[in-house]
Amino acid sequence: MQDWPLLVHKIIDHAALYHGQREVVTRSAEGPIVRTDYAAIARRSRQMASALDRAGFGLGDRIATLGWNTARHMETWYGITGIGAIYHTLNPRLFPDQLAYIVNHAEDAALFFDITFAGLVEQIAPKIPSVRQYVALTDRAHLPAIHLPNLVAYEDFIAGGAPDFAWKEFDEQTGCGLCYTSGTTGNPKGVLYSHRSNVLHALIAGQGDALGVRNADTVLPVVPMFHANAWAMAFMAPFSGAKLVLPGPKLDGDSICELLTNEQVTMALGVPTVWLGLLQYLEKTGKTLPDLKRVLVGGSACPRSMIETLERKYGIEVTHAWGMTEMSPLGTLGILKAEFLQLPYEQRLDYKCKQGHPPFGVEMKITDDENRELPRDGKVFGRLKVRGPSVAKGYFRGEGADAFDSEGWFDTGDVATIDRHGYMTITDRAKDVIKSGGEWISSIEIENIAMGHPGIAEAAVIGIPHPKWDERPLLIAVRKAGAVVTREELLQFLAGKIAKWWMPDDVVFVEQIPHTGTGKVQKTALREQFGKHIARAAAE
Ligand code: ADP
Repeated sequence: MQDWPLLVHKIIDHAALYHGQREVVTRSAEGPIVRTDYAAIARRSRQMASALDRAGFGLGDRIATLGWNTARHMETWYGITGIGAIYHTLNPRLFPDQLAYIVNHAEDAALFFDITFAGLVEQIAPKIPSVRQYVALTDRAHLPAIHLPNLVAYEDFIAGGAPDFAWKEFDEQTGCGLCYTSGTTGNPKGVLYSHRSNVLHALIAGQGDALGVRNADTVLPVVPMFHANAWAMAFMAPFSGAKLVLPGPKLDGDSICELLTNEQVTMALGVPTVWLGLLQYLEKTGKTLPDLKRVLVGGSACPRSMIETLERKYGIEVTHAWGMTEMSPLGTLGILKAEFLQLPYEQRLDYKCKQGHPPFGVEMKITDDENRELPRDGKVFGRLKVRGPSVAKGYFRGEGADAFDSEGWFDTGDVATIDRHGYMTITDRAKDVIKSGGEWISSIEIENIAMGHPGIAEAAVIGIPHPKWDERPLLIAVRKAGAVVTREELLQFLAGKIAKWWMPDDVVFVEQIPHTGTGKVQKTALREQFGKHIARAAAE
């Protein structure tokens, strides 16, 4: 058969040819809603590639982007990859010093940024000498008045580029995208995706029982392009010609609701905190979302109460998904298998709360610390290991090599169970696991149940030192606005739902829980703040 190289710019060519007039709608960084289509994106991507080529960039160069989900950001990706350069997504939620570290580590040659981030870019510019070209993703009229070497507006940058530029030729194993993990411990580590892995990942994610996006869908990826590739959406939506709605800088409940309604979005993707914001907005306003059929939730564990509210109250089907930067990012999806479809709702919900089973293309197992595979009985916890054509085989520049073994398995750093049906449940990140009396307690499970209390908005469980048991769980919770919940009431709510020895020794109420740049609960910060907490019951 033919050796047809899997190159990502072939995706936008396909979309232009077969779905050219299908809309891509963006809430722009400048403010207004702007409309374009796949044909225009493909044409402008070639102009972008041509402009980069003329400016002297080429194969293997890292070109950074610091941008929201917008059509222009998509064009930069296709343009960069079309000359064999590498789009390097920067997460604006990281600290400026961390961003400078990442740019220097990658030795980025150019930086494309949204005007929202002009101040941030100006701040880090003196620390990133490898960047020789700055491009603001806007037109000349909105060019920010800041001093940067070689600063130009995107529209001017691509204006001279040829719309019929011929994509460069190279192997499918060529580097294509670069994304750093947020590095809650140690420095961030880079994952370098290839053209082949990005195309295969989009095909894997596109399976019917995975994301299964179809032409008739209108998709809103709230999950950002700067974190884990917007879960393949910039590549997968153009495959089928689904209409894309890109939220730009506004991710609050009100703005997302407006886009979902006005653009008649059928499917949306995001982390739990995004849906938390949307649900709070819906509750406050009494609005509903009749067009929205399906929501994909991942990046952190999706609380049971959230799935139930979205499904039962609003009629939106929820798919819980798990993945990580190192997996491009898709790993598993909590799609119900045929044998569970007739179960009563509560039991179906049990399965939907799990992180789910992998699509074809992702292998998965759990092992003990000596790398012996553990049974798939749904009870035993182990280190979750994965491999596949869109899983990293090492980090950029060879760091963190101990996470990869000689058989190609990558240790995810997550602790999980797998049941006999293949459903995986994350119990913790290895570094967050609570070890009490030599046994593991799942912080995620306790958090999940606590968040089911009608007065609780968010909950996190950490281990605090204990003289007898080594560690005991401490529950940290945020009350919903106006709710009156006491420590005793919350503990009572947990009683009977978890093993007795999993019961938190104490509850602390806080105004808010800190989150990382990728929307996860920042347990390191909580451990710093509450690590010395003395539980009222701990003395017993
Ligand atoms: P970062 O490490 O940069 O914050 P990643 O998105 O790569 O960003 O993080 C991946 C981790 O997020 C996983 O290893 C896992 O611990 C957690 N995670 C992702 N999805 C889920 C989920 N559905 N349930 C529980 N944890 C999840």
